[in-house]
Amino acid sequence: MSVEFRGAGVVPGMAVGTIRRVETSLTAAVAAYVSGAQESENEKILAAQAVVGARLTEQMTACSAAGQSLQAAILTTQQLMVQDPMLTEKIQNKTAAGIPAPQAILTATEEEAAIFDAMDDAYLRERAADIRCVGQAIARQVLGISEIDLSGDEAMILTGVTIEPSLLASIPAGRLVGVLLGEGSRTSHAVILARARSLPTIVGVGNFLSQLRDGDEVLLDGEQGLVRLQPTAAEVAFAAAARRQQDLLREKDAALRDLPAVTPDGVRISLLANIGTSAEVVPALEKGAEGIGLFRSEVLFLGRASLPTEEEQYIVYRAAVENCRGKRCVFRTLDIGGDKPLAYLDLPVESNPFLGWRAIRISLDRPDLFQPQLRAILRAGAYGPVAVLLPMIVSAAEVRAARQQLEKARTDLLAEGIACADTVPLGLMIETPAAALTAKILAQQADFFSIGTNDLIQYTLAADRGNPKVSSLYSPFYPAVLQLILQTISAGREAGIPVGMCGEMAGDSYAAVLLLAMGISELSMTAASIPGVKAKLRQVTAKQAKKILGTVLAMDDAAAIEQYLRIILQ
Ligand code: PEP
Ligand code: MG
Repeated sequence: MSVEFRGAGVVPGMAVGTIRRVETSLTAAVAAYVSGAQESENEKILAAQAVVGARLTEQMTACSAAGQSLQAAILTTQQLMVQDPMLTEKIQNKTAAGIPAPQAILTATEEEAAIFDAMDDAYLRERAADIRCVGQAIARQVLGISEIDLSGDEAMILTGVTIEPSLLASIPAGRLVGVLLGEGSRTSHAVILARARSLPTIVGVGNFLSQLRDGDEVLLDGEQGLVRLQPTAAEVAFAAAARRQQDLLREKDAALRDLPAVTPDGVRISLLANIGTSAEVVPALEKGAEGIGLFRSEVLFLGRASLPTEEEQYIVYRAAVENCRGKRCVFRTLDIGGDKPLAYLDLPVESNPFLGWRAIRISLDRPDLFQPQLRAILRAGAYGPVAVLLPMIVSAAEVRAARQQLEKARTDLLAEGIACADTVPLGLMIETPAAALTAKILAQQADFFSIGTNDLIQYTLAADRGNPKVSSLYSPFYPAVLQLILQTISAGREAGIPVGMCGEMAGDSYAAVLLLAMGISELSMTAASIPGVKAKLRQVTAKQAKKILGTVLAMDDAAAIEQYLRIILQ
């Protein structure tokens, strides 16, 4: 029996290959380092930052030229970190206190990483790994330790506590068959890249890494999170068969990718993706997304020490728009408050945060936050089609006020001679019962609707979306929720504006059939759900869907509706 251990499987699939460990502990080199005067230490640091930054730029340009925009976007993130003046200041404060350059770099980046480690948002927590990678790269440069040699031609399983995304991006396809990390999660940049390349990946194996040596043969099961050391011939054969099966499935998904989501009787729905960072655009398009239906802009605001400037926002939004290559990117304006507090904004402690000062309410009260965001979106709109989506709308007055702000941002940009989008559609999230009930009125003010069922369900059923005690109440199939959705879609259609959905319900292939029958025009979801929803929509005629909807609307129980859909749409 071969030795096995477990981590968390974050990219499914089987791989057999030889271990290549890529991190080199810097402990001994740091201890042996002889420090110079403060000035020369600072010079060494700046020179090392320049070399690492230039290397990242070079790789980034190569990735862009090869059409690998996801890799390019991730390398850009790290490059911005390398050159971050706040990080440089932090490092130099340490050399001023007599700390040698390599230690100053590693301590400063570790302190920054610890801030990210403490964040609630999983994506932002993962930025800690990026900062640590950047620190390692700069320190290695100061210490004169050369780049990791990955020559050879065996099928490699890249292994490390963390792995620099730039390293992963630089290994040609074919050489690399899997990734094994001591730390990390599904949103680590290295993992995002591994997923884009469909490389089976396991993270969080921690101390087990110490059992692995360069050249060991291992089998990875990225579905189960299983690592098998020295697999038997039978296990290797089984993995090969499983891989062939996966390749077939991937081919099926890929075959579906460029086909439209159209019913056999010709009703067409656009399938879009929900994302939080520009790096997610390309993998979403690869899954068949026809654009981005929801860019959750708050991801950029969460878990930092200060507000992102207009310029920082513009860089991120523009990267997303460019990655969309002509497809539309819908930016939702800042949706904070509720379960997403921002430490640096000093938001008041509220006894009912979900019913409090959140989302559009904050934006309208704080033009100093709203204007830079609208300007950044409009500027990004000079590079491709964009739209603005307003969260948590309850009244037409809010929409009018927001539209005025949008017009002011555009007028100011034009007066300043700054390039920006010509026209930007303004959409409303229909995620409060108030908005759904007055959809007819709101439709007069809006260019499109996007139904946010994640909030709509909780507000309609008075059931907190994060409270497991009431999770049985939290279902899109409650007749009250279905009626509000139907009412919203009908109001939008009557007014001649498109109605989409970006809540989780949109990614449920059974619910999608009901939404099709109600007349929805767009569904925006986690990219991974796109092939399943598309396959279902291509199977069921609009006529059948209407019949099913008729039956469902006559039923009075959410669980029974769900069960009925699962049986009838098997
Ligand atoms: C929603 O409420 O359905 C939605 C998409 O927004 P969020 O989940 O970010 O609140
Ligand atoms: Mg919401």
